[in-house]
Amino acid sequence: MKRRHLALSFASLAAILALPGAARAQDAPCAPGADLLLVNGRIHTMDADARVVSSVHILGDRFAAVGGDPGPTRCTEVIDLEGRTVVPGLIDNHNHIVLLGLRPGHDVRLENARSIEAALETLAAKAAQLPPGEWITSIGGFDPSHLVPPPGEPRLPTLDELDRAVPDHPVYLQISFAGPAVTNSAGKAFFESRDIDVGADGSIAGGFETPNPSTRALHALRALQTFEDRMRGTLDAMRYAASLGLTTHFDQGGFPATGTPADGAAHLDPSSAYDALLRLHRGGRLINRVRLNFLHMEDDPATPALRARLENAFPESGDDMLRVVGIGEFTAGSSPIVMTATPAWENGTRLVAEAGWRNENHSLTPTDFQTIIDGWQRIHESLPEPGIRPLRWVLAHAPFITREYVDKLRALGGGVSVLGGWRYISGTAEQNGPPFRMLVDSGIPVGMSSDGMQISPMNPWLGLYYVVTGKNARGEAINAEQTLDRRTALRLYTAANGWFLNEEDAIGSIEPGKYADLAVLDRDYFDERATPDDDIKRIRSLLTIVGGRIVHGRPDAL
Ligand SMILES: [Zn+2]
Repeated sequence: MKRRHLALSFASLAAILALPGAARAQDAPCAPGADLLLVNGRIHTMDADARVVSSVHILGDRFAAVGGDPGPTRCTEVIDLEGRTVVPGLIDNHNHIVLLGLRPGHDVRLENARSIEAALETLAAKAAQLPPGEWITSIGGFDPSHLVPPPGEPRLPTLDELDRAVPDHPVYLQISFAGPAVTNSAGKAFFESRDIDVGADGSIAGGFETPNPSTRALHALRALQTFEDRMRGTLDAMRYAASLGLTTHFDQGGFPATGTPADGAAHLDPSSAYDALLRLHRGGRLINRVRLNFLHMEDDPATPALRARLENAFPESGDDMLRVVGIGEFTAGSSPIVMTATPAWENGTRLVAEAGWRNENHSLTPTDFQTIIDGWQRIHESLPEPGIRPLRWVLAHAPFITREYVDKLRALGGGVSVLGGWRYISGTAEQNGPPFRMLVDSGIPVGMSSDGMQISPMNPWLGLYYVVTGKNARGEAINAEQTLDRRTALRLYTAANGWFLNEEDAIGSIEPGKYADLAVLDRDYFDERATPDDDIKRIRSLLTIVGGRIVHGRPDAL
């Protein structure tokens, strides 16, 4: 791809020269902000007509013209896409980017590794960028199932393998919220100095019996962290997202920290967890958009913390880069495992409705969705019209939801957030939902998310691969009856997610007046011959633009 400055056509040059005072106009400084013209692309706008255009003009932080050639001025920077595929910046409508940013050590995402060797190369590449002695970590978001191709048995790397790949840095790899984990020799020495048991093969036991050794290891690493580290971690998480074409995250918080050894990778201290993000935002340093739901889990039926939030904060507030949206993915009094309509949940949910806030609840088990939707219906019916209908409450994950309950939720004005990457790395024939096809056919608002980065990868292309093929990381077709075509699937990660942010007029598609967020892809997602199903997983962004700013890649390297 080439970029051209000052690309005046002869006609416009002649027109300018013919004007009195033309010399002064040419010397005048260009207006601040972007003036970018992308030409010769296959630009999939994902608008209502599914238009594909060859050019798009960005002025400031918005799309100014889509299709047609507005003609560059002397201030326009022209980027020749040379036939590349462009899509709207992807929106992840439910993830945990804040938690990822707070991880101790230098985080490495292992979700794309498809062998132990590839995982080791990814770790070594990170280590090569850092002074010896810095911690290299990967906590959550990956699974042994994709680290060993079949017929091999899924496993983690060993101490010897980690030593060989990363000899000069301590390494810590942990699965999910609470392990198990593995370390190398340098890490083993550190953990043993803190009385944490490490096996001869580097293994550190995990599990939900707390405190387990891997949770203690995590705490020991967190104790090393500074505020600067948290800002750097947050930026690193966003850089990785931008490399995948992701431009917006709807964060769903973390479990409120208890201050006990039971706190795992998904716990955060609500009083300080957002400080790094806020500092970056104030400095104009965010490179992705972030929307926030606040997660509440208290058991007191009077839900004092939630009440204080609703009385003293403002929903749907902030700016285009960082906004508070609502309450989620828990409202009150719920366990992360099985959702029950406790008095705290019922009361908290009612308070959220009365305050007119957005609400999102996570539904995982075969009964959660019934508990939640029936409860929402009770509250809706007790309120004056229009009840909760305008509030766009969202059921998240919903692997087992039935058409009957989809229709009930639709009547309540709700939507369903579905995920793919989680099933990709750990799905089975029995654990294979959500039923994508049924949900899309029902007409209810449906949008996609990763639910990364504890149990699930962030990479949206892994999730899209699962939606399109129904196959997990082991290559087993586990959801073949509920797949979607590629265009419909990508719509769930772009235009359809505008509704979930309550910003469908501003984000999700490439249309005049919307935020100038897009990704230039390294291969054509829409062409099944050029990009066979398996290669969907390999798609990366060559150039990612957020609000007219290039946040990943270089135009001259396209
Ligand atoms: Zn979640």
